Amino acid sequence: MLRVAVVGGGPSGSCAAEVLAKAGIETWLFERKLDNAKPCGGAIPLCMVREFDLPESIIDRKVNNMKMISPSNREVDIHLDNPEEYIGMCRREVFDAFLRNRAADLGTHLVNGLVQRIDTGSNRQGPYTLHYADYSGGGPTGELRTLEVDLIVGADGANSRVAKAMDAGDYNVAIAFQERIRLPPEEMAYYEDLAEMYVGTDVSPDFYAWVFPKYDHVAVGTGTMQKNQSLIKGLQKGIRLRASKRLLHGEVIKVEAHPIPEHPRPRRVVGRMALVGDAAGYVTKSSGEGIYFAAKSGRMCAEEIIASSGNGQRIPTEKDLKVYLKKWDKKYGATYKVLEILQNVFYSNDPAREAFVEMCDDKDVQRLTFDSYLYKRVVPINPWQTVKLTLLTLGAYLRGQAFAPSGYTPVPSAVRSEQEMDELLAADAAKALAAHGAASSQPGANQAMSRPLAASGEREPILAGKS
Ligand SMILES: Cc1cc2nc3c(=O)[nH]c(=O)nc-3n(C[C@H](O)[C@H](O)[C@H](O)COP(=O)(O)OP(=O)(O)OC[C@H]3O[C@@H](n4cnc5c(N)ncnc54)[C@H](O)[C@@H]3O)c2cc1C
Repeated sequence: MLRVAVVGGGPSGSCAAEVLAKAGIETWLFERKLDNAKPCGGAIPLCMVREFDLPESIIDRKVNNMKMISPSNREVDIHLDNPEEYIGMCRREVFDAFLRNRAADLGTHLVNGLVQRIDTGSNRQGPYTLHYADYSGGGPTGELRTLEVDLIVGADGANSRVAKAMDAGDYNVAIAFQERIRLPPEEMAYYEDLAEMYVGTDVSPDFYAWVFPKYDHVAVGTGTMQKNQSLIKGLQKGIRLRASKRLLHGEVIKVEAHPIPEHPRPRRVVGRMALVGDAAGYVTKSSGEGIYFAAKSGRMCAEEIIASSGNGQRIPTEKDLKVYLKKWDKKYGATYKVLEILQNVFYSNDPAREAFVEMCDDKDVQRLTFDSYLYKRVVPINPWQTVKLTLLTLGAYLRGQAFAPSGYTPVPSAVRSEQEMDELLAADAAKALAAHGAASSQPGANQAMSRPLAASGEREPILAGKS
């Protein structure tokens, strides 16, 4: 019987392991940290709930309102009219654990272990020996063990060790930075079923920034391509400033950063090692969406292993595994390309971003965008819609020049009047001044006041009205 090791217990690995175990294939799923909370916005499309048979209990919030906010703070509301339609917001620690445990219930050997090294045999053709630290005993360093298998699925994310072992080649990554912020009840109520997307050079030169509702807080973050990585903390300040009136009196409870692949790796199958999810490089441009594609690629790869091995009766070849790549590229190649073009066109400068937000006000554009996101299907458009969209794009593009701002200001509060806001900000400023006065009489005070953004895990109140 075929022996398969799946390295990485995120959505891609768990979905691969689930399918393999269901088919009776001897499957090991390695996850270094069983309570891992992957830094992530946690937004999943509606079709994923049905396709992957996800229980409602793992969805914290059902978002059916989306606000797009342009550099000049033009706000465009997108509402999903059908009450059955929503974007699911999940906590990754809950979501990942559910998928992992389901795979284990179906017969996967779930190993709480860090795969440290892989012997790949002559010419990387196997047999494959995994060297891993087994943490199941509870110790901090783990017990060193080995396991020999016939095939490896690399589902170990953007810093994949399987990719290194198989010499998959490098890919460019974007860097995403995110703060989890707990808000007062009034501010949190506004984000009950609403997510915000901000664009502007202040928040990202080539991507967008977001405020996404989570279980009892919001995730506020931004991303940018690798070449702009040094700007990331300044960009995070940009989104905190722009959304500052909506995040009033928020408390940062967690700070996290993680790479996001920008494109697939040069080699995704070598010998009998195949990459899936972020390890392969399956995050879309424009939206930065990766959870669905991770789960789907894990599933498709596993299905190909089952088919080519005759349900585990023989060992598939490299050529067999590459059929998974062919099917994947055929199904999603165009989606990745279109989203890459959209990102290059609409996220490149402020006039283009103004045009992008203006276009999102159009019902046809909204339906097109949401249908392709929620259901992962290409929506056919009729010739009249094509003409209309072309004219709309051109018009919006020209008008965008006029709307692009020379500076950036915070969007108004969504739950408080300007007067109340001014009073609260004045009170905060007075408090901050008094605290500064008290602190500056202490030795070393200046150092403390000039502290950079909180380090991972630290709590730091947002300075209200810092704009
Ligand atoms: C800040 C941020 C926000 C995002 N927001 C969204 C969003 O809202 N919606 C969306 O669809 N996508 C989002 N993404 C992308 C999404 O998080 C990824 O595409 C997705 O998690 C990929 O899943 P995966 O299973 O391939 O990899 P991962 O989720 O990275 O899982 C890899 C797993 O492997 C484990 N692992 C790694 N190395 C080893 C090893 N050597 N041994 C054992 N275990 C190992 C890790 O602990 C981890 O659990 C976001 C990404 C970031 C960084």
